[in-house]
Amino acid sequence: MNYSIEADWHLLDTCNYRCGYCFFGPETLGAKLRTFSDPSGWGSAFDETGAIWLLHLTGGEPSIYPDFATLCERLTARHYISLNSNLTHASLADLPRVVDPSRVSFINAGLHLEERELRKNNAPFLRNAETLRAADFPLIVSLVATPSALRRFDDAIALLAPIGLFPVPKLFRGSADGKIYPQAYTEQEKQQFRLLAARARDFYQADLLRRAEPPSIDILNDDLFLDGMPSYKGALCTAGVRFVQILPNGDVRRCGGGDPMGNILARTFARRAGPAPCDTQHCYYFCNKYSDAGPQRDGRTMQPFLAAE
Ligand code: SF4
Ligand code: SF4
Repeated sequence: MNYSIEADWHLLDTCNYRCGYCFFGPETLGAKLRTFSDPSGWGSAFDETGAIWLLHLTGGEPSIYPDFATLCERLTARHYISLNSNLTHASLADLPRVVDPSRVSFINAGLHLEERELRKNNAPFLRNAETLRAADFPLIVSLVATPSALRRFDDAIALLAPIGLFPVPKLFRGSADGKIYPQAYTEQEKQQFRLLAARARDFYQADLLRRAEPPSIDILNDDLFLDGMPSYKGALCTAGVRFVQILPNGDVRRCGGGDPMGNILARTFARRAGPAPCDTQHCYYFCNKYSDAGPQRDGRTMQPFLAAE
């Protein structure tokens, strides 16, 4: 994929789900959806930066954004996209009609097993997953590996088997039962996580190898971080040059919510001249891609298609 800059774009904070482990609280998730432009306005604004973007659309739930399929169509006319989604909304079924799958780096489909059961709605997820896969969209299903999700992982495997998919365990970063994760994983939970991650790598390996671009949100290697996150502070990073964060109103930040860099819609965005030391919080997956520190643990790098140990 021939892009010159990638963005982690928080398109909205709103979501139709209320997962207990979400970074956002229920008030934020349930707030009225605010939009700051329409598909044509966003498309023109990104075009006029002169760059070719890889836009990672996340939220909240991006697919509930008004005219979501049209937004993806407009963006992918010139740029590339990737997507985090709970795969529930009907707008996703329109993507194959209007978006060329080769313009989509990956779709990280969050299974959110417990929330889905609470609402008794596995059907839309399974339907959307099948539709997108049939149209050759690169789909990876992830399941946040809370202790209770780990105990029920076999249910998730059984749910996805009929449509030819497998759940990838996603590191749980948060608190449950008064404990902070991932630090609180027991040895047994870590071992189960490693085995599931290895099975997931095997499962997705062939599909990833034929794709143009490894997924930036590299959940397939989350087992590298079971014992803690690396520190990138002080290391040179190209965030601000090759990567930025974009907020729902188009404001641009270098990363981690700091370092303002103008606004996309106001046409005031300007890239930094070159790399600079990291002076902010961890950006999870994007640090691994853009920091000089580069993750290198136990002889493994962050390439998603490495064979399991
Ligand atoms: S689906 Fe994602 S954004 Fe929505 S509540 Fe769950 S974790 Fe949060
Ligand atoms: S290493 Fe991560 S947190 Fe630091 S500047 Fe780069 S992207 Fe941001």
